[in-house]
Amino acid sequence: IEAGEEGGRRPDMEGALTARDRVGIQDFVLLDETTEAAFLSNLKKRFSKDLIYTYIGTLLVSVNPYKELDIYNMKQMDLYMGVNFFELPPHIYALADNAYHTMLTEFNNHFILISGESGAGKTEASKKILQYYAVSCPSTTLLNTVRDKMLMSNPVLEAFGNAKTLKNYNSSRFGKYMDIQFDSQGDAVGGHILNYMLEKSRVVHQNHGERNFHIFYQLVEGGEEDLLHQLGLERDCQQYNYLTQGECAIVSSINDRNDWKTVKNALQIINIDEINTNHLFGTVASVLHLGNVHQRINSLNVIFFLQLLGVDAHRLQEGLTYRKIEAQKDQVLSPFTIDHAIYARDALAKAIYGQTFTWLVNRINESIENKDSSRKTVIGLLDIYGFEVFYVNSFEQFCINYCNEKLQQLFIQLTLKAEQEEYQAEDIEWEPVQFFNNKIICDLVEEKHRGIISILDEECLRPGDVTDLTFLERLEEKMGNHPHFVTHKLADKMTRKTLERGDFRLLHYAGEVTYCVVGKRNHNLICQSKNAIVRECFSTMDPDSRRRPETVVTQFKSSLLKLTEILMAKEAWYIRCLKSNESKQPGQFDEALIRHQVKYLGLMEHLRVRRAGFAYRRKYEVFLKRYKPLCPATWPHWRGVPADGVEVLVQHLGYLPHEYKMGRMLLRNVNMNWVTTKLQAKYK
Ligand code: ATP
Ligand code: MG
Repeated sequence: IEAGEEGGRRPDMEGALTARDRVGIQDFVLLDETTEAAFLSNLKKRFSKDLIYTYIGTLLVSVNPYKELDIYNMKQMDLYMGVNFFELPPHIYALADNAYHTMLTEFNNHFILISGESGAGKTEASKKILQYYAVSCPSTTLLNTVRDKMLMSNPVLEAFGNAKTLKNYNSSRFGKYMDIQFDSQGDAVGGHILNYMLEKSRVVHQNHGERNFHIFYQLVEGGEEDLLHQLGLERDCQQYNYLTQGECAIVSSINDRNDWKTVKNALQIINIDEINTNHLFGTVASVLHLGNVHQRINSLNVIFFLQLLGVDAHRLQEGLTYRKIEAQKDQVLSPFTIDHAIYARDALAKAIYGQTFTWLVNRINESIENKDSSRKTVIGLLDIYGFEVFYVNSFEQFCINYCNEKLQQLFIQLTLKAEQEEYQAEDIEWEPVQFFNNKIICDLVEEKHRGIISILDEECLRPGDVTDLTFLERLEEKMGNHPHFVTHKLADKMTRKTLERGDFRLLHYAGEVTYCVVGKRNHNLICQSKNAIVRECFSTMDPDSRRRPETVVTQFKSSLLKLTEILMAKEAWYIRCLKSNESKQPGQFDEALIRHQVKYLGLMEHLRVRRAGFAYRRKYEVFLKRYKPLCPATWPHWRGVPADGVEVLVQHLGYLPHEYKMGRMLLRNVNMNWVTTKLQAKYK
């Protein structure tokens, strides 16, 4: 178990520290005691030696080192290729490799769920995995281009979809699920990306200390003179309203100029031609111009905006300054107030940017699509925005945290709950492990007719005098005594001091978050805007449809439901990322912060279930089919029932009684690696 990091098992020398003392234990399952203190102490010991990865069985725990480690190079990739999981020190490559080989031997689909709060290292982890597949899979020249495109989709999507927040200088502001497709030879032959709700409000508003999406600064700072001239932009971020609200346009640790070059190069590799590239930067520039349109509608910014987007001046003016009111059969134009006009302007900017992002994802998908119809298996990589709590939390945080809540629920269902229920169903002796099931919070948010989303929908679509506060009142009525919901009115004396009147607080699995209701409805109302341009940009609905319109948050809820279905149909692998400290410093292990994450991610419970249970389970038929060559009695055919064949097989292999249990359907044992090794040896 101590192999690798210390050069393999060493005999204990008198007076010398054992490897276990020096580098801790590589797999928490082998820890002497399952206390939180022992868990943290092991994690800390390893972290201090720059050993950021530790297993809990096949789950990988990763602690953000906030510094470059020399463990992601070709040499390391070579080392982990095709090697059995527990033979080498824990590494993200080992997990990637294990998923890959399981996929090849069993010809089924997999996904890797990467979770953790904002800044914990999810995006970095997903990039490392993609790189590993790009390098380690067999290759041909043709496939290399597909792989390059998959790799290059990252800098492009990050430029348009990531931004500096207080939590993370490269925070993902959209959710991403990427399928990597493999043919039966194990070649990575294509991919497909699904993206989830981009935080569009960032385009028009950034909190103090935060930035807009990277691409804006990259263009202004790095764009070539000619290009800027053509787009009517000045090389000065301070000139643009949409770039200066956070008062940190320039950040020393972000090199916008270099990143610009990377993005331009990447766009070429993913086959976005010159015309489209120009259109793309045209829309980015148009958003900056739009943000500078204040009261005068005939400014230079407007001229550029119109030119860049090819929009009719009259329509823009009408759209931004008048509201169309339908009175019986007539349409009347009623002038906007300044506030309304600004609101319409911002809505338009968000819509343009949002549509541009969707367009970009579609182009990337076209370029990495594999049109060959032969059967493929996939490994899906899920990298979403992590749980986050700010001083002021709005609609976006509500959606992001709800999404995290759903993924935690999926994790619980697939590991803690399903596993324990299975042991019971299989009549295997089992001492239940207690855990907190966050389903109660998911229900609070999404339950039909009763959840927060339903109430928000009703309020948005209800005619009459609806305000943010009536929404809050409705919530109070319906959620009154829910243990995970509180408002100023419902709170006890102590809690009330910490709540404003327009707030509600949710006790999420990962901590308390206070949301401000102001404007929550607006996000939804925009779908039904009376403003023609805004509506065109926002609406994905069929205009003739007589159906009740879907609100943004309901669309998000449905997309998460679909995602869950996609994932449930695959075999799961987990990476749990932990944030080491709040100040993004290398070498700092903030024990309280890490303890909190270990708690809410359910790592201790996971460990207890893993320790008591069996990491490997297969249907008898599948197991027998795969391993029957290893035993003369089962090869080439086993004539009896599969379970008996499996029994004969495992006894022939020399399994000890405590290493496996046979339930009604499945066989499980502690470690399959050595069986696989035997199989490989036989075929060599
Ligand atoms: P968010 O939810 O905000 O998108 P995230 O979990 O995706 O957060 P990352 O962007 O992956 O977080 O990581 C944040 C930063 O931490 C990175 O920009 C990098 O500086 C550092 N970091 C993360 N993982 C590693 C690693 N394995 N090695 C070195 N640095 C890392
Ligand atoms: Mg990220």
